[in-house]
Amino acid sequence: MTAFTPDPEAGRDARRTGSFQRALVTGGAGFVGSHLCEQLLDAGTSVVALDNFVTSEPDDIAGLVDRPGFALVRHDVTESFSGLGRFDVVFHLASAASPPDYLRLPIETLRAGSLGTDHALELAQRCGARFVLASTSEVYGDPGVHPQPEGYWGHVNPVGPRSVYDEAKRYAEALTMAYRRERGVDSGIARIFNTYGPRMRADDGRMVPTFIAQALAGAPLTVAGTGEQTRSLCYVEDTVRGLLALARSGHPGPVNIGNPRELSVRSLAEEIRAAAGSRSALEYIDGAIDDPQRRCPDISLARHALGWRPMVERSEGLRRTIDWFAERTTPVDGSPRPVTKRQTGLAVNSTGSA
Ligand code: NAD
Ligand code: UDP
Repeated sequence: MTAFTPDPEAGRDARRTGSFQRALVTGGAGFVGSHLCEQLLDAGTSVVALDNFVTSEPDDIAGLVDRPGFALVRHDVTESFSGLGRFDVVFHLASAASPPDYLRLPIETLRAGSLGTDHALELAQRCGARFVLASTSEVYGDPGVHPQPEGYWGHVNPVGPRSVYDEAKRYAEALTMAYRRERGVDSGIARIFNTYGPRMRADDGRMVPTFIAQALAGAPLTVAGTGEQTRSLCYVEDTVRGLLALARSGHPGPVNIGNPRELSVRSLAEEIRAAAGSRSALEYIDGAIDDPQRRCPDISLARHALGWRPMVERSEGLRRTIDWFAERTTPVDGSPRPVTKRQTGLAVNSTGSA
Protein backbone atom coordinates (compact mmCIF):
# COMPACT_ATOMS: atom_id res chain seq x y z
CA MET A 1 0.00 0.00 0.00
CA THR A 2 1.40 3.41 -0.93
CA ALA A 3 0.88 6.01 1.79
CA PHE A 4 0.13 9.57 0.75
CA THR A 5 -1.26 12.61 2.46
CA PRO A 6 -4.89 13.37 1.62
CA ASP A 7 -5.37 16.70 -0.03
CA PRO A 8 -9.03 17.70 -0.08
CA GLU A 9 -8.29 20.57 -2.46
CA ALA A 10 -6.51 18.48 -5.12
CA GLY A 11 -9.58 17.63 -7.16
CA ARG A 12 -11.06 21.10 -6.81
CA ASP A 13 -7.80 22.74 -8.01
CA ALA A 14 -7.67 20.45 -11.03
CA ARG A 15 -11.30 21.21 -11.77
CA ARG A 16 -10.75 24.94 -11.55
CA THR A 17 -7.98 24.83 -14.14
CA GLY A 18 -10.05 22.49 -16.29
CA SER A 19 -7.32 19.88 -16.58
CA PHE A 20 -6.80 16.76 -14.53
CA GLN A 21 -3.29 15.36 -14.01
CA ARG A 22 -4.17 11.76 -13.21
CA ALA A 23 -7.48 9.90 -13.52
CA LEU A 24 -8.72 6.52 -12.37
CA VAL A 25 -11.39 4.96 -14.60
CA THR A 26 -13.00 1.86 -13.11
CA GLY A 27 -14.50 -0.22 -15.91
CA GLY A 28 -11.94 1.45 -18.17
CA ALA A 29 -11.72 -1.50 -20.55
CA GLY A 30 -15.45 -1.44 -21.27
CA PHE A 31 -17.32 0.32 -24.05
CA VAL A 32 -17.87 3.78 -22.49
CA GLY A 33 -14.78 3.48 -20.27
CA SER A 34 -12.40 2.92 -23.18
CA HIS A 35 -13.68 6.04 -24.97
CA LEU A 36 -13.41 8.02 -21.72
CA CYS A 37 -9.80 6.87 -21.27
CA GLU A 38 -9.09 7.94 -24.83
CA GLN A 39 -10.56 11.43 -24.43
CA LEU A 40 -8.72 11.90 -21.11
CA LEU A 41 -5.40 10.88 -22.71
CA ASP A 42 -6.12 13.25 -25.61
CA ALA A 43 -6.53 16.05 -23.04
CA GLY A 44 -3.12 15.25 -21.52
CA THR A 45 -4.36 13.39 -18.43
CA SER A 46 -2.55 10.25 -17.24
CA VAL A 47 -5.03 7.41 -16.90
CA VAL A 48 -5.20 4.23 -14.87
CA ALA A 49 -7.96 1.89 -16.09
CA LEU A 50 -9.05 -0.66 -13.52
CA ASP A 51 -11.07 -3.60 -14.82
CA ASN A 52 -11.70 -7.28 -14.14
CA PHE A 53 -12.83 -7.96 -17.74
CA VAL A 54 -16.10 -9.53 -16.67
CA THR A 55 -17.85 -7.97 -19.71
CA SER A 56 -14.83 -6.95 -21.78
CA GLU A 57 -11.45 -8.24 -22.91
CA PRO A 58 -7.96 -6.76 -22.79
CA ASP A 59 -7.96 -6.82 -26.57
CA ASP A 60 -10.85 -4.31 -26.59
CA ILE A 61 -8.42 -1.60 -25.49
CA ALA A 62 -5.43 -2.80 -27.46
CA GLY A 63 -5.27 0.61 -29.12
CA LEU A 64 -4.80 2.35 -25.77
CA VAL A 65 -2.14 0.26 -24.03
CA ASP A 66 0.79 1.64 -25.95
CA ARG A 67 -0.21 5.25 -25.39
CA PRO A 68 2.04 7.19 -23.03
CA GLY A 69 0.37 7.91 -19.71
CA PHE A 70 -1.94 4.89 -19.84
CA ALA A 71 -1.84 1.97 -17.39
CA LEU A 72 -4.17 -0.98 -17.08
CA VAL A 73 -4.77 -2.78 -13.80
CA ARG A 74 -6.67 -6.06 -13.66
CA HIS A 75 -8.69 -5.92 -10.46
CA ASP A 76 -12.22 -6.49 -9.22
CA VAL A 77 -13.55 -3.19 -7.85
CA THR A 78 -15.57 -5.09 -5.24
CA GLU A 79 -12.25 -6.05 -3.59
CA SER A 80 -10.59 -3.12 -1.84
CA PHE A 81 -7.68 -1.54 -3.67
CA SER A 82 -4.76 0.65 -2.75
CA GLY A 83 -1.23 1.31 -3.91
CA LEU A 84 -2.30 2.96 -7.13
CA GLY A 85 -1.01 6.39 -6.15
CA ARG A 86 -3.05 9.55 -6.06
CA PHE A 87 -5.65 10.79 -8.48
CA ASP A 88 -7.37 14.13 -8.90
CA VAL A 89 -10.42 12.54 -10.53
CA VAL A 90 -12.05 9.11 -10.13
CA PHE A 91 -14.66 7.94 -12.66
CA HIS A 92 -16.60 4.92 -11.44
CA LEU A 93 -17.99 2.98 -14.42
CA ALA A 94 -17.30 -0.62 -13.38
CA SER A 95 -20.59 -2.48 -13.69
CA ALA A 96 -22.28 -4.79 -16.14
CA ALA A 97 -24.53 -2.54 -18.23
CA SER A 98 -26.21 -4.63 -20.90
CA PRO A 99 -29.45 -6.29 -19.70
CA PRO A 100 -28.31 -9.80 -20.76
CA ASP A 101 -25.01 -9.20 -18.93
CA TYR A 102 -26.55 -8.04 -15.65
CA LEU A 103 -29.26 -10.69 -15.78
CA ARG A 104 -26.55 -13.40 -15.96
CA LEU A 105 -24.41 -11.57 -13.35
CA PRO A 106 -26.98 -10.49 -10.75
CA ILE A 107 -24.87 -10.69 -7.58
CA GLU A 108 -21.76 -9.29 -9.28
CA THR A 109 -23.82 -6.34 -10.54
CA LEU A 110 -25.26 -5.58 -7.11
CA ARG A 111 -21.76 -5.80 -5.61
CA ALA A 112 -20.22 -3.53 -8.25
CA GLY A 113 -22.85 -0.89 -7.44
CA SER A 114 -22.54 -1.27 -3.68
CA LEU A 115 -19.08 -2.49 -2.60
CA GLY A 116 -17.45 -1.22 -5.78
CA THR A 117 -18.89 2.25 -5.40
CA ASP A 118 -17.85 2.29 -1.74
CA HIS A 119 -14.25 1.45 -2.64
CA ALA A 120 -14.11 4.02 -5.42
CA LEU A 121 -15.55 6.70 -3.12
CA GLU A 122 -13.08 5.80 -0.35
CA LEU A 123 -10.23 6.27 -2.78
CA ALA A 124 -11.62 9.62 -3.95
CA GLN A 125 -11.94 10.72 -0.34
CA ARG A 126 -8.34 9.67 0.47
CA CYS A 127 -7.02 11.58 -2.54
CA GLY A 128 -9.32 14.58 -2.26
CA ALA A 129 -10.29 13.75 -5.84
CA ARG A 130 -13.34 14.73 -7.84
CA PHE A 131 -15.61 11.65 -8.07
CA VAL A 132 -17.96 10.95 -10.98
CA LEU A 133 -20.52 8.13 -10.78
CA ALA A 134 -21.76 6.57 -14.02
CA SER A 135 -25.40 6.13 -13.04
CA THR A 136 -28.18 5.39 -15.49
CA SER A 137 -31.61 6.26 -16.81
CA GLU A 138 -32.63 2.88 -15.36
CA VAL A 139 -32.99 4.61 -11.98
CA TYR A 140 -36.25 6.00 -13.47
CA GLY A 141 -37.45 2.42 -14.15
CA ASP A 142 -40.49 2.25 -16.43
CA PRO A 143 -41.16 5.96 -16.06
CA GLY A 144 -44.46 7.59 -15.23
CA VAL A 145 -43.15 11.03 -16.23
CA HIS A 146 -42.01 11.79 -19.75
CA PRO A 147 -39.46 13.02 -20.71
CA GLN A 148 -37.57 12.30 -17.51
CA PRO A 149 -36.16 15.24 -15.52
CA GLU A 150 -33.69 14.64 -12.69
CA GLY A 151 -36.36 15.56 -10.12
CA TYR A 152 -38.44 12.51 -11.04
CA TRP A 153 -37.89 9.73 -8.44
CA GLY A 154 -38.70 6.85 -10.72
CA HIS A 155 -40.93 3.80 -11.00
CA VAL A 156 -38.77 0.76 -10.29
CA ASN A 157 -39.76 -2.80 -9.46
CA PRO A 158 -37.42 -3.49 -6.50
CA VAL A 159 -37.72 -7.29 -6.78
CA GLY A 160 -37.93 -7.87 -10.54
CA PRO A 161 -35.03 -9.29 -12.57
CA ARG A 162 -33.83 -5.82 -13.66
CA SER A 163 -33.69 -4.67 -10.03
CA VAL A 164 -30.14 -6.02 -9.70
CA TYR A 165 -29.02 -3.19 -11.95
CA ASP A 166 -31.60 -0.50 -11.15
CA GLU A 167 -31.31 -0.83 -7.38
CA ALA A 168 -27.52 -1.18 -7.48
CA LYS A 169 -27.36 2.18 -9.25
CA ARG A 170 -29.94 3.77 -6.94
CA TYR A 171 -27.87 2.56 -3.96
CA ALA A 172 -24.70 3.86 -5.65
CA GLU A 173 -26.34 7.30 -6.02
CA ALA A 174 -27.42 7.28 -2.35
CA LEU A 175 -23.93 6.26 -1.23
CA THR A 176 -22.34 8.96 -3.37
CA MET A 177 -24.58 11.60 -1.78
CA ALA A 178 -23.79 10.26 1.72
CA TYR A 179 -20.03 10.54 1.08
CA ARG A 180 -20.62 14.05 -0.22
CA ARG A 181 -22.70 15.15 2.79
CA GLU A 182 -20.83 13.29 5.53
CA ARG A 183 -17.26 13.18 4.24
CA GLY A 184 -17.03 16.16 1.92
CA VAL A 185 -16.29 14.17 -1.25
CA ASP A 186 -16.52 16.39 -4.32
CA SER A 187 -18.91 14.15 -6.21
CA GLY A 188 -21.00 14.31 -9.38
CA ILE A 189 -23.68 11.87 -10.51
CA ALA A 190 -24.29 11.36 -14.24
CA ARG A 191 -27.47 9.57 -15.29
CA ILE A 192 -26.42 8.16 -18.64
CA PHE A 193 -29.09 7.29 -21.20
CA ASN A 194 -28.67 4.66 -23.94
CA THR A 195 -25.27 5.17 -25.52
CA TYR A 196 -23.94 3.48 -28.64
CA GLY A 197 -20.87 3.48 -30.84
CA PRO A 198 -17.77 1.60 -31.89
CA ARG A 199 -16.30 -0.95 -29.45
CA MET A 200 -19.63 -2.32 -28.26
CA ARG A 201 -19.44 -6.12 -28.19
CA ALA A 202 -21.40 -7.57 -31.11
CA ASP A 203 -22.87 -10.12 -28.72
CA ASP A 204 -23.52 -7.90 -25.69
CA GLY A 205 -27.27 -8.16 -26.33
CA ARG A 206 -28.10 -4.45 -26.45
CA MET A 207 -30.27 -3.40 -29.36
CA VAL A 208 -27.74 -1.37 -31.39
CA PRO A 209 -24.92 -3.96 -31.66
CA THR A 210 -27.47 -6.76 -31.98
CA PHE A 211 -29.34 -5.12 -34.86
CA ILE A 212 -26.11 -4.13 -36.61
CA ALA A 213 -24.60 -7.61 -36.31
CA GLN A 214 -27.84 -9.16 -37.55
CA ALA A 215 -28.18 -6.71 -40.45
CA LEU A 216 -24.58 -7.29 -41.57
CA ALA A 217 -25.03 -11.06 -41.34
CA GLY A 218 -28.30 -10.97 -43.30
CA ALA A 219 -30.08 -12.48 -40.28
CA PRO A 220 -33.49 -11.35 -38.99
CA LEU A 221 -33.45 -8.33 -36.69
CA THR A 222 -34.95 -9.46 -33.37
CA VAL A 223 -37.41 -6.80 -32.24
CA ALA A 224 -38.65 -7.43 -28.68
CA GLY A 225 -42.35 -7.11 -27.83
CA THR A 226 -44.32 -4.77 -30.07
CA GLY A 227 -41.26 -2.71 -30.96
CA GLU A 228 -43.28 0.40 -30.04
CA GLN A 229 -41.29 0.96 -26.83
CA THR A 230 -38.95 3.93 -27.20
CA ARG A 231 -35.35 4.84 -26.44
CA SER A 232 -33.18 7.91 -27.12
CA LEU A 233 -29.71 7.16 -28.40
CA CYS A 234 -26.59 9.15 -27.63
CA TYR A 235 -23.33 8.67 -29.56
CA VAL A 236 -20.51 7.64 -27.25
CA GLU A 237 -18.29 10.62 -28.08
CA ASP A 238 -21.09 12.93 -26.88
CA THR A 239 -21.73 10.91 -23.71
CA VAL A 240 -18.03 11.03 -22.81
CA ARG A 241 -17.92 14.80 -23.43
CA GLY A 242 -20.83 15.03 -20.99
CA LEU A 243 -19.01 12.99 -18.34
CA LEU A 244 -15.93 15.20 -18.71
CA ALA A 245 -18.04 18.36 -18.55
CA LEU A 246 -19.60 17.11 -15.33
CA ALA A 247 -16.17 16.25 -13.89
CA ARG A 248 -14.85 19.73 -14.66
CA SER A 249 -17.96 21.57 -13.50
CA GLY A 250 -18.05 20.64 -9.83
CA HIS A 251 -21.82 20.15 -10.16
CA PRO A 252 -23.16 17.48 -7.76
CA GLY A 253 -25.83 16.18 -10.14
CA PRO A 254 -27.66 14.05 -10.70
CA VAL A 255 -27.60 15.28 -14.27
CA ASN A 256 -29.03 13.49 -17.30
CA ILE A 257 -26.53 12.79 -20.08
CA GLY A 258 -28.39 11.60 -23.16
CA ASN A 259 -29.80 12.56 -26.52
CA PRO A 260 -33.44 13.72 -26.36
CA ARG A 261 -34.30 12.43 -29.85
CA GLU A 262 -36.69 9.61 -29.08
CA LEU A 263 -37.60 6.78 -31.44
CA SER A 264 -39.26 3.39 -31.26
CA VAL A 265 -37.20 0.22 -31.19
CA ARG A 266 -38.90 -0.91 -34.41
CA SER A 267 -37.95 2.37 -36.16
CA LEU A 268 -34.38 1.93 -35.00
CA ALA A 269 -34.27 -1.60 -36.43
CA GLU A 270 -35.54 -0.24 -39.75
CA GLU A 271 -33.00 2.61 -39.72
CA ILE A 272 -30.12 0.26 -39.02
CA ARG A 273 -31.29 -2.18 -41.69
CA ALA A 274 -31.42 0.61 -44.27
CA ALA A 275 -28.10 2.16 -43.20
CA ALA A 276 -26.39 -1.25 -43.42
CA GLY A 277 -27.87 -1.87 -46.89
CA SER A 278 -29.43 -5.07 -45.57
CA ARG A 279 -32.56 -6.89 -46.67
CA SER A 280 -33.00 -8.74 -43.36
CA ALA A 281 -36.53 -9.26 -42.07
CA LEU A 282 -37.74 -8.02 -38.70
CA GLU A 283 -38.53 -10.89 -36.33
CA TYR A 284 -40.75 -10.16 -33.34
CA ILE A 285 -39.62 -11.95 -30.16
CA ASP A 286 -40.93 -11.96 -26.59
CA GLY A 287 -40.61 -8.63 -24.78
CA ALA A 288 -38.35 -8.37 -21.72
CA ILE A 289 -39.84 -8.35 -18.18
CA ASP A 290 -40.28 -4.82 -16.80
CA ASP A 291 -38.91 -3.35 -20.04
CA PRO A 292 -39.28 0.45 -19.80
CA GLN A 293 -41.86 1.47 -22.40
CA ARG A 294 -40.74 5.07 -22.94
CA ARG A 295 -37.40 6.68 -22.27
CA CYS A 296 -36.21 10.14 -23.16
CA PRO A 297 -34.03 12.52 -21.15
CA ASP A 298 -34.88 16.08 -20.26
CA ILE A 299 -31.42 17.61 -20.69
CA SER A 300 -32.23 21.18 -19.60
CA LEU A 301 -29.93 20.84 -16.57
CA ALA A 302 -26.99 19.54 -18.61
CA ARG A 303 -27.46 22.38 -21.11
CA HIS A 304 -27.53 25.09 -18.46
CA ALA A 305 -25.21 23.76 -15.75
CA LEU A 306 -22.62 22.06 -17.98
CA GLY A 307 -23.06 23.88 -21.28
CA TRP A 308 -23.37 20.40 -22.81
CA ARG A 309 -25.58 19.00 -25.51
CA PRO A 310 -25.18 16.09 -27.92
CA MET A 311 -23.65 17.05 -31.27
CA VAL A 312 -23.55 13.86 -33.35
CA GLU A 313 -26.68 13.15 -35.39
CA ARG A 314 -27.98 9.59 -35.21
CA SER A 315 -27.47 9.06 -38.96
CA GLU A 316 -23.80 9.96 -38.59
CA GLY A 317 -23.31 8.00 -35.36
CA LEU A 318 -24.92 4.91 -36.83
CA ARG A 319 -22.82 5.21 -39.99
CA ARG A 320 -19.60 5.32 -37.94
CA THR A 321 -20.75 2.42 -35.78
CA ILE A 322 -21.88 0.26 -38.69
CA ASP A 323 -18.57 0.94 -40.49
CA TRP A 324 -16.67 -0.13 -37.38
CA PHE A 325 -18.64 -3.35 -37.10
CA ALA A 326 -18.42 -4.02 -40.83
CA GLU A 327 -14.62 -3.91 -40.69
CA ARG A 328 -14.72 -6.70 -38.15
CA THR A 329 -17.39 -8.91 -39.66
CA THR A 330 -17.27 -11.51 -42.38
CA PRO A 331 -19.82 -10.35 -44.96
CA VAL A 332 -22.76 -12.47 -46.02
CA ASP A 333 -21.07 -13.51 -49.30
CA GLY A 334 -18.15 -14.94 -47.31
CA SER A 335 -15.42 -12.77 -48.86
CA PRO A 336 -12.84 -11.62 -46.31
CA ARG A 337 -12.92 -8.10 -44.95
CA PRO A 338 -9.74 -6.38 -43.83
CA VAL A 339 -8.91 -7.18 -40.22
CA THR A 340 -8.14 -3.88 -38.54
CA LYS A 341 -8.28 -4.87 -34.91
CA ARG A 342 -4.76 -5.26 -33.63
CA GLN A 343 -4.00 -8.50 -31.87
CA THR A 344 -1.54 -7.63 -29.13
CA GLY A 345 0.16 -9.41 -26.31
CA LEU A 346 -1.21 -7.11 -23.67
CA ALA A 347 0.68 -6.59 -20.45
CA VAL A 348 -1.92 -6.57 -17.72
CA ASN A 349 -0.68 -5.78 -14.24
CA SER A 350 -2.19 -7.01 -11.05
CA THR A 351 -2.96 -4.44 -8.38
CA GLY A 352 -0.02 -5.74 -6.38
CA SER A 353 2.50 -4.96 -9.10
CA ALA A 354 1.03 -1.67 -10.28
P1 NAD B 1 -19.47 -2.40 -20.46
O1 NAD B 1 -20.03 -3.69 -20.00
O2 NAD B 1 -19.00 -2.31 -21.86
O3 NAD B 1 -18.27 -1.95 -19.52
C1 NAD B 1 -18.26 -2.14 -18.15
C2 NAD B 1 -16.85 -2.47 -17.73
O4 NAD B 1 -16.82 -2.63 -16.31
C3 NAD B 1 -16.32 -3.77 -18.35
O5 NAD B 1 -15.04 -3.59 -18.87
C4 NAD B 1 -16.32 -4.73 -17.18
O6 NAD B 1 -15.35 -5.75 -17.31
C5 NAD B 1 -16.05 -3.78 -16.02
N1 NAD B 1 -16.49 -4.30 -14.73
C6 NAD B 1 -17.70 -4.77 -14.37
N2 NAD B 1 -17.71 -5.18 -13.09
C7 NAD B 1 -16.45 -4.94 -12.63
C8 NAD B 1 -15.83 -5.13 -11.37
N3 NAD B 1 -16.47 -5.69 -10.33
N4 NAD B 1 -14.53 -4.76 -11.22
C9 NAD B 1 -13.85 -4.20 -12.26
N5 NAD B 1 -14.39 -4.01 -13.46
C10 NAD B 1 -15.67 -4.37 -13.65
O7 NAD B 1 -20.58 -1.30 -20.16
P2 NAD B 1 -20.65 0.22 -20.65
O8 NAD B 1 -21.75 0.33 -21.62
O9 NAD B 1 -19.30 0.68 -21.03
O10 NAD B 1 -21.12 0.94 -19.31
C11 NAD B 1 -20.17 1.58 -18.47
C12 NAD B 1 -20.88 2.27 -17.33
O11 NAD B 1 -21.79 3.24 -17.84
C13 NAD B 1 -21.69 1.31 -16.44
O12 NAD B 1 -21.53 1.70 -15.10
C14 NAD B 1 -23.10 1.53 -16.90
O13 NAD B 1 -24.02 1.28 -15.88
C15 NAD B 1 -23.08 3.00 -17.31
N6 NAD B 1 -24.11 3.25 -18.32
C16 NAD B 1 -23.93 2.88 -19.61
C17 NAD B 1 -24.95 3.10 -20.52
C18 NAD B 1 -24.80 2.71 -21.97
O14 NAD B 1 -25.76 2.88 -22.73
N7 NAD B 1 -23.66 2.21 -22.42
C19 NAD B 1 -26.15 3.69 -20.12
C20 NAD B 1 -26.31 4.01 -18.77
C21 NAD B 1 -25.28 3.81 -17.88
N1 UDP C 1 -34.29 -5.01 -27.78
C1 UDP C 1 -34.80 -5.59 -28.93
N2 UDP C 1 -34.07 -6.55 -29.54
C2 UDP C 1 -32.83 -6.94 -29.11
C3 UDP C 1 -32.30 -6.31 -27.95
C4 UDP C 1 -33.06 -5.34 -27.31
O1 UDP C 1 -35.90 -5.26 -29.38
O2 UDP C 1 -32.22 -7.82 -29.74
C5 UDP C 1 -35.10 -4.00 -27.09
C6 UDP C 1 -35.23 -4.17 -25.59
O3 UDP C 1 -36.29 -5.08 -25.28
C7 UDP C 1 -35.54 -2.76 -25.16
C8 UDP C 1 -34.74 -1.91 -26.15
O4 UDP C 1 -34.47 -2.75 -27.26
O5 UDP C 1 -36.90 -2.48 -25.33
C9 UDP C 1 -33.42 -1.41 -25.57
O6 UDP C 1 -32.74 -2.53 -25.05
P1 UDP C 1 -31.19 -2.47 -24.68
O7 UDP C 1 -30.84 -3.84 -24.19
O8 UDP C 1 -30.39 -1.92 -25.80
O9 UDP C 1 -31.08 -1.41 -23.51
P2 UDP C 1 -32.01 -0.98 -22.30
O10 UDP C 1 -32.46 0.38 -22.64
O11 UDP C 1 -33.16 -1.93 -22.15
O12 UDP C 1 -31.09 -1.03 -21.14
